[in-house]
Amino acid sequence: MKPSPLFARIIAIALIVVSFSAVAQKKANVVILATGGTIAGAAGSGVQSGYTSGQVTIDAMVNAVPDITKLATIKGEQISNVGSQDMSFEIMLKLAKRIGELAATADCDGIVITHGTDTMEETAYFLNLVVKTDKPVVLVGSMRPSTAVSADGPLNLYNAVAVAADPNAKNRGVLLVMNDWIHSAQTLTKVSTTAVQTFMSPIRGLIGTSAYGKNEYYRYPHNLYGAKSEFDVTGVTKLPRVDIIYADADMSPDLIDASVKLGAKGIVIAGVGNGNMNKVSLDACARAAKAGVIVVRSSRVTTGNVDRNVEVNDDQLGLVASYDLNPQKARILLSVALLKPRKPAEIQKLYYQY
Ligand code: GLU
Repeated sequence: MKPSPLFARIIAIALIVVSFSAVAQKKANVVILATGGTIAGAAGSGVQSGYTSGQVTIDAMVNAVPDITKLATIKGEQISNVGSQDMSFEIMLKLAKRIGELAATADCDGIVITHGTDTMEETAYFLNLVVKTDKPVVLVGSMRPSTAVSADGPLNLYNAVAVAADPNAKNRGVLLVMNDWIHSAQTLTKVSTTAVQTFMSPIRGLIGTSAYGKNEYYRYPHNLYGAKSEFDVTGVTKLPRVDIIYADADMSPDLIDASVKLGAKGIVIAGVGNGNMNKVSLDACARAAKAGVIVVRSSRVTTGNVDRNVEVNDDQLGLVASYDLNPQKARILLSVALLKPRKPAEIQKLYYQY
């Protein structure tokens, strides 16, 4: 007997609803790339401040957060196991390559990177410049080791996986999730040596929040990143030498001259105020610029831009202003930019764009 047209229609609608909800319920695949840091750190007791970073493996970290497997199907890979004070360009390049490979496969929906917080902003910003994917790439760490009373790592990891598994997190550049806040790699900075709320995104603010895996988003980053970034590190094994030199009252210019002699291709000054330094240091910067070294004025102050020609005549001295990048991120941008020769004016444009 042939089914009536009405019955056939009901069956068809039911099939569509079932297949839609199967798609909706499909668990995301998230790969966790572990690099070390306090999130993988261990101490002799739960209440001591001394501990060693990078002691706990990725499997042990994931096993400490059982509900995490309800958010996503998780795979883990150990890229390194270091305190992030030992993070190197070599490890960053390895990470970028692996993220590129994973993101290109259909069975990876998002990537989480566990990392020490000390140099998290450098790695996050580097990846933001060079990784070409719109899939979520999320860095996470902790301020307390895994053995501490009230360790913050497990919930941070849970929230990071929730963001990496979330299609709404796509195309927002490289993110950092810690203590319920979602930061852009471009804006975040570490502001406390010990507090759990150590990352801030001054002035431009958060990308969103993640509380017990419930995510909310407020904005997309304003700058260029991901597929829109012109930087490509495919096949790159080494980055050019760029030094950061810290300015203060009565600063000595010798280190600027020494940096040039030691072969730096770029120098970033962590200047006072709006990227300032004393006259003798400014003269040394002008000498360096004349010798073909790119000199970028950034600031040791946490918030505010460093712009051209405010108190320093950048046009005359051939210098570059870091705009909204702090010294450590200004160094990353310059290191990547100097993979090919560029003039100060071209580099200046990059600081406004990235
Ligand atoms: N030095 C450690 C690191 O960056 C401590 C900071 C942390 O992970 O919280 O790996």
